[in-house]
Amino acid sequence: MTEHCPPPPPPAFAPTPDPLTPSRDVTHAHFEAGDQIVVLKGIAGGELWGDAMRVVAPSWHTPTDEDGWRLRDATGGAQTYITGHPRYLVHLSRRCPDCLIHLRAMEDHLLPKYAGQDALIDCGWYTTTALGQLVHIADIRRGQ
Ligand SMILES: [Zn+2]
Repeated sequence: MTEHCPPPPPPAFAPTPDPLTPSRDVTHAHFEAGDQIVVLKGIAGGELWGDAMRVVAPSWHTPTDEDGWRLRDATGGAQTYITGHPRYLVHLSRRCPDCLIHLRAMEDHLLPKYAGQDALIDCGWYTTTALGQLVHIADIRRGQ
């Protein structure tokens, strides 16, 4: 996995389906304040790539109408604090079998599609609303 620090040039945008994240079964209680997590966004140099963030506090995730988590993105600029759904988050701070299984599944799903490419690729799964809510593309469709 590659964390971007300092921020890389803007990634190439290559829409790719992500059927795995929306079907993840992760409870709100799986995370707690202080956890280091990553929100996977694409691939870079043949590895999964995403935004590393810290879990701050419970927060309502309005796009799904479910319990979410307030996240702090140290490189987020104007959007330093955003709210995400638990299923968007993958643990970095501790060895977590559940999150590791998801990481491996994402690798198996994505890496073969971009074999041999070194570019940073944003697969376009997430947007952030004006109210600081991180939304997976599957949840936008679901919520309309
Ligand atoms: Zn975990």
